[in-house]
Amino acid sequence: MGKVVVVGSFMTDLMSRTPHLPKPGETVMGGPFKLGPGGKGSNQAVACSRLGGEVWFVGCLGNDYFGQIAMNNFKENGINTDFVRIVEGIHSGAALIMVSDETGENAIVVAPGANSHLSPEDVDRALEVIKEADVVLTQFEIPEETVNHLAEVLPERVIFLVNPAPGRKISDVVLKRADFIIPNESELEVITGRKVETIEDAENAAKVLLDRGAKNVIVTLGNKGALWVSKKNTRHFQAFKVDVVDTTGAGDAFCGAFAFALSNGENVEEAVVMANAAAAISVTRIGTAPSMPTMSELKEFLSNQR
Ligand code: ADP
Repeated sequence: MGKVVVVGSFMTDLMSRTPHLPKPGETVMGGPFKLGPGGKGSNQAVACSRLGGEVWFVGCLGNDYFGQIAMNNFKENGINTDFVRIVEGIHSGAALIMVSDETGENAIVVAPGANSHLSPEDVDRALEVIKEADVVLTQFEIPEETVNHLAEVLPERVIFLVNPAPGRKISDVVLKRADFIIPNESELEVITGRKVETIEDAENAAKVLLDRGAKNVIVTLGNKGALWVSKKNTRHFQAFKVDVVDTTGAGDAFCGAFAFALSNGENVEEAVVMANAAAAISVTRIGTAPSMPTMSELKEFLSNQR
């Protein structure tokens, strides 16, 4: 089995539906309410582990109830927590999500809490396992200096995947060290300052990153699948046709499954197909972490496509 280290965030998602999004000062009677594990780092670790990957999570939690939710989630999904640090006096990350019944729009407050304390020293503490990993995967819900440090200390042989989410500028050190940068369309817009509406736009924007020194860019395109752009070629992979129930966490399913596939020696084409399939399954189910497929579910899904 390949070894994957995720250096990333955990958030508890607190979600309520509401007849309409409240205006400033307004209280709205809403519901139903859902509470569960989330955060891009944690979701991607779960996606990878469900498929059978050997996964370590490097991250920070508060000494509180939400931190216990995180640890239970990691335990249930067989994720190693040796390098999870509890930060005293700081709350665990939380995301307050309101979804309007009227329009389907949402409004979200992310309170990163302990995630903001994940430091370069935390990366150094985990270096023994990071150095032995096949794949290291990170996202942008943790401090920029920590991601930069990770890029600097990572041995050349380790495959480095960067999901620049939420979108923010990428330093040259990360851009050049990453083997794959994996943004969605809106993140690619934020990073490059270009409009990304069509597949051609995505290719052109990805090439801006190649010009800055990126090796490979994989743009996830929602129901249009994914686009792999490298110096040598551009390849589009169609999305699988499924009945969509809830697309939250689709990008996380994609990144976690892609990391799993590469850590097991699959080539890039095979890895993108697996990632597209895992993400397609996840959009047929409600939630983020609970919607990630197991390997037997993924195999069954793929065999039904042929
Ligand atoms: P994010 O969740 O970060 O916004 P995307 O919307 O680009 O990311 O979705 C990530 C991946 O999920 C896509 O590349 C695709 O594989 C899969 N996906 C998303 N929406 C659909 C859909 N409607 N049908 C099939 N696959 C989908």
